[in-house]
Formats: sequence, C-alpha cells, structure tokens
Amino acid sequence: MNIIISKVELRRIVKNARNDGKTIGFVPTMGFLHDGHLSLIQRARKENDIVVTSIFVNPTQFDPNEDLDTYPRDMESDCELMASAGVDIAFFPTAESIYPHGYATYVQVEGNMTQVLCGRSRPTHFKGVTTVVTKLFHMVFPNLAYFGQKDAQQVAVLKQMVGDLDFDVKIVVCPIVREGDGLAMSSRNSYLTPEQRTQAPVLHRSLCKAKEMIANGERSAAIIKQNIEKKIDAIGSAAIDYVAVVNAHTLETMESLKGEILIAVAAKFGDTRLIDNIQIEV
Ligand code: AMP
Repeated sequence: MNIIISKVELRRIVKNARNDGKTIGFVPTMGFLHDGHLSLIQRARKENDIVVTSIFVNPTQFDPNEDLDTYPRDMESDCELMASAGVDIAFFPTAESIYPHGYATYVQVEGNMTQVLCGRSRPTHFKGVTTVVTKLFHMVFPNLAYFGQKDAQQVAVLKQMVGDLDFDVKIVVCPIVREGDGLAMSSRNSYLTPEQRTQAPVLHRSLCKAKEMIANGERSAAIIKQNIEKKIDAIGSAAIDYVAVVNAHTLETMESLKGEILIAVAAKFGDTRLIDNIQIEV
C-alpha cells in the first residue's frame, strides 16, 4: 500500500493509472476505521483496478461547538486495516493542503435537502461535506465513489451535487454495518460510556419496530414517528434530536407512507450524538 500525503503526487499517480485504462474506486473517510468503513473498501476492491481511501478529519463539516479536536484518530491501526483490506493508495491530506491560507470557495446544495434532519442542528455541516468531497474528487479522479447508507442524508445530498454539477463519477451506496446488538458502527461509538453503550441500540430497535408496523399495514407517518419517539424516550438519558419520516430521495416530509421512504433518527447519549436510519419500499 502506498501512503501519500501530497495531492500533487496523488494526482500524478491516478492520472497515469487512468491513462493506462485502469478504473479507480474511491472511499473517503475520516479515519478511526471500523467494519463499516471496511465494507466500503471491500466493495471498492471487488469493482475497481485501483482503490484509493482518504483519511481526512474535515474541519469545515464540524460546527464550532462540535468534536473536531477530540474526534478519534489512529493512523497506525487505520494503515494496518487498509493494507489488509487491499487498499492501493491511502491518502492522508493535511488541512493546510485542502484549505490553504486564503481559501474562499465552497460548494453548497441549496434548499430543503440540507436544512432538514441533521441540517437543523448542524447548519454548516453539509456545505463542508460537499466542498471537501468536490475537492477530493478533483484529486482522486475516481470512476466510482463509495458511501455508506448509515449517512443517508449525506448520500442524498452528494447524489444531488454530482447530478447538478455533472461530475463524471458514480456514487455507490453500501448497506449499514451493525454491531451484534444492532447498533450502527460509528467512530463516535468510542465516546460512549459502558452504560450509554448498552442504551444506544434502542435507535435500531425503534426503527425495526417501525418496519414491523409498516409491514403490518401502518401508513401514518405521525404514528410511526410517535412510536419511535416513545421507545427512545423510555431510555431516560437519551435526548432525541429528530425522528423523521421522509421521501428517501428528496428528503421531503410525508404524511402517508408511499414509495421509497427513509426513517431517520438522531439522538444524544450524553454528549455523543448518534444517527441511524432504515429505508423501506412501501
Ligand atoms: P466517516 O469516517 O464517518 O466520515 O465515514 C466514512 C464513510 O463510511 C461514509 O460514507 C459513511 O457513511 C461510511 N460508514 C460509516 N459507518 C458505517 C457503517 N456502520 N456502515 C456502513 N458505512 C458506514
């Protein structure tokens, strides 16, 4: 595995590979890799000649009061995991190379899609995501880029951006990888106290119950939402940020369930904010 810090060197290598007719699969991450990240890498490994994984804790997608400074990092373990999963190029850009002094250009998907769900409590988050992904796409020059369904709103926003701006890259969405008790894997799970860790699977349990209710014929978004809220509230220490039932592609709210729907939740366990979702075809 080739570890690269310089964006100039990375571009030289991937351009040569593309000129030789090789395909490039790209997995952007913020590191502290777990099996969720590795599932994206494994899929990219199967579908491409060259796999590039980036590790960059992107400052512009953190709001000022968020966990940028304390976000977990472990370069050594990340390199071992990437190498054993068959990554060809591990790209570790520096913040200075991504946002040099005087940096002033941002990419933003306007409107409802970035304002709802996580956008309500994280108003600058998606602007940071679309900006950094744009820059990384320009550096990595991928044919296919892999993202997790775990961040369903991020996927919807990036698909909108790629379509609107005519990026020549295909977004591949990979299923959520979970712990044995259903908790969606996340680098932020490492913040949880043992007690919070036992409580956090309530997010997945409440979504599974919603899925069961829908399978049994329930079509009211309000009733589904209330049921999820009740289940999470029953864990006294979890503070709900949102429970939303929306169109899976546009993220528009729906009252009566129809088509492809996304049920998404965010809740805080102490200072740790976790998200989860399920997508259902009704
Ligand atoms: P992050 O490092 O949290 O920015 O995540 C990098 C990529 O891994 C994103 O596309 C995430 O959606 C994806 N990802 C994170 N956790 C999971 C998971 N549990 N299952 C599948 N994909 C995930």
